[in-house]
Amino acid sequence: MNKRNKIVAANWKMNKTFDEAQDLVDEIIEKLPNNLETDVIICPPLVYTEYITDMAENAEEEKGVTFFTGAQNVSQFNDGAYTGEVSAKMLSELGTDFVIVGHSERRKYFGETDQVLAEKINRCFENDLSVIFCCGEQLEDREAGKHLDVVKNQIANALFHLTAEQMENIIIAYEPVWAIGTGKTATKEQAQEMHKFIRSLIEEKFGEETADNIYILYGGSCNADNALELFSQNDIDGGLIGGASLVADKFLKIISAAETCQKDN
Ligand code: PEP
Repeated sequence: MNKRNKIVAANWKMNKTFDEAQDLVDEIIEKLPNNLETDVIICPPLVYTEYITDMAENAEEEKGVTFFTGAQNVSQFNDGAYTGEVSAKMLSELGTDFVIVGHSERRKYFGETDQVLAEKINRCFENDLSVIFCCGEQLEDREAGKHLDVVKNQIANALFHLTAEQMENIIIAYEPVWAIGTGKTATKEQAQEMHKFIRSLIEEKFGEETADNIYILYGGSCNADNALELFSQNDIDGGLIGGASLVADKFLKIISAAETCQKDN
């Protein structure tokens, strides 16, 4: 990947039938320009990951269209009696590139703690997978003025055991929980403040070079109408997109906003 070009990542969550998934990726491949500077990552439900990773390889070979794929979850364990779990090694064997770790839905519905997330990240690195690490405060944290502290703790607990070299394979996604799937987006000022703060935390711990190089994406009701304004902020390197990534044209408009920012730089 280039240095701090924009990244637009899709988190499909538990949506789409196999046919719908195939159609969506077909349409994206058909309409995605092949000289794109923005890096596009698609994280489908796990059962489609291998198929869509193959589609990505073919698209690159046949059309020069590039996108990466990722999984939405990984086990914190290596292998063994963990019914229903999928290991980092298995994901790596599928040929996928990224894993989303720490999404607020995993924290909320599956009780994933910062310690579990740190283990998941370790398993990813042991198996050459890059990580999209999500963090973000609840509405009550923000209302109580604790949002910076909450995010600082999430980052320190899950990432501060890593080396500066390992941090090169981390993308941070700041996703205020109150903005996810609610249609309520952080303002550009709120998002920029947090992204700048996150970059300063990374600088304090890992040094200036790591802080300059790390990608920090915004997620939370990001859409075709607000993407340009958000992505134009200094410390916002693109977006992690949920709902709007499920419709090709909406997703492509967000990618095109990222491309516009690229050209403005
Ligand atoms: C997400 O869940 O990562 C997300 C950003 O969702 P949405 O865009 O739907 O708010």
